[in-house]
Amino acid sequence: MTQHNPLEALAPGSTVGILGGGQLGRMLAQAAAKLGLRVHIYAPEETSPAAEVSDKATCGTYEDAASLTAFAESVDVVTYEFENVPGETARILAEHTLVRPSPKALAVSQDRLDEKNFLTGLGIRTAPFAPVDTLQDLEEALAKLGTPAILKTRRFGYDGKGQVKIDRSADAKAAFDALKGAPAILEGFVPFEKEVSVIAARAPDGSFAAYDVGENDHRHHILHTTTVPAALPAALADTAREMTRTLMDGLDYVGVIGVEFFILPDGETGSRLCINEFAPRVHNSGHWTMDACLVSQFEQHIRAICGWPLGSTKRHSDAVMLNLIGTDVEAWSSHAATPDRSVHLYGKHDPRPGRKMGHVTTIYHRQDR
Ligand code: AMP
Repeated sequence: MTQHNPLEALAPGSTVGILGGGQLGRMLAQAAAKLGLRVHIYAPEETSPAAEVSDKATCGTYEDAASLTAFAESVDVVTYEFENVPGETARILAEHTLVRPSPKALAVSQDRLDEKNFLTGLGIRTAPFAPVDTLQDLEEALAKLGTPAILKTRRFGYDGKGQVKIDRSADAKAAFDALKGAPAILEGFVPFEKEVSVIAARAPDGSFAAYDVGENDHRHHILHTTTVPAALPAALADTAREMTRTLMDGLDYVGVIGVEFFILPDGETGSRLCINEFAPRVHNSGHWTMDACLVSQFEQHIRAICGWPLGSTKRHSDAVMLNLIGTDVEAWSSHAATPDRSVHLYGKHDPRPGRKMGHVTTIYHRQDR
C-alpha cells in the first residue's frame, strides 16, 4: 500500500488489520463493521472468536515475516488486541503500514521495569520497585523495600501469573527459584483501599477523551466485576484521568489505553493515586462502555486508529459489568432473562477454568437526556 498521511482519516471501506483472534479482537471487529470498515484478522489459530465476525482472516505465526508483510500490505492500519506482540513483529508491520498504538507503547508496556521507569520519569507514582536479576539483588531489594513485597517477572505476566508474594525475607530464595531465573522486579506492597481503572483514547492530532473511572473487583487474580461510577471523590477521579493523559501524551499514543490504579487510603503521604500498570489496548474493565455509553471503547479505539474524531465518552447509565469465567457461562439464559442486563458471549466452545467466555452488563439509573 502507499504510505498514508498519518493525520488523514481512513475513509469507510478502508481495512483495519487486527493482530490476535480473541474476544477483544471480536468486539473491535464488530465496532469497525458498524463504521463501515473492513477487518482482517491475523492470528496463529485457524479459527478464532475474532475471525468468525471479520471479513478476512490469515492464519500465521508472529514470526513469519513473509506472511506478516503480506498482511500489512493488505490493510490500511494495524492494531492489536494483546500486548505481548513480539517487538520484531511490530517492527516488520510498521515498515509496511501504520501500527497503532506505536511499537514504542507496546515495548514500554511489555516490560514492568521499563513501564515503571517510564511512569516515574513522568512524575507518576507507582509501587516502590527495584530490578532483580540475581538472588543477591532480591535480598538487597527486600532490605530496601521491606515485606510484604511482590516479586514479578518483568515480561509476560498477566492475571497474577509470573508473580510471588514474599511475606518474610527468609522466603526470598524460594520466591526467586519459583520464577526460574526470569528477569524480575520486586515491588513494595501497596496497601491499597481499592483498584480502579481509566479507559481513555488519544487521536493522532493529540485530542484526548476519557471515560468515567470504573472500580474493579478481582477474584483469583481475574477481573470479576467493574462498577461505574467508582465510589471515589470527584477530584481523585479527575486526577486519575489527567495522569492517564500525561502518560498518553508522553507516549504520543494513538488508540485506547487501559490504565490500572491503586487508590491509597486517605491520610497516606503523597498522592493517593498510584499506577499499577497499563495495557496498550482496549481493556476488560472497559466493557461496560458498550452498554452505558453512546460510543464504546471498541468503537473509540477504531475511531482513534483511523484518525476519525473521537466520540462521546458520556455515560448515560450506571453499570456493573460481570465477567463470565469458565462454566459461569452456563447461566447465559438466566442472564438473558434478567431485565436491564445485556449479554455478550464470545463464541468460545470450551469453558475451561479461568477462560473468559463472555460478560454481562447490568444498567441502573438510566439518565434521561
Ligand atoms: P498485576 O498482574 O500487576 O496487575 O497484579 C495482579 C493483582 O495483584 C493486582 O490487581 C493487585 O490486586 C495485586 N498487586 C499487584 N501488585 C501489587 C502491589 N505492588 N501491591 C499490592 N498488591 C499488588
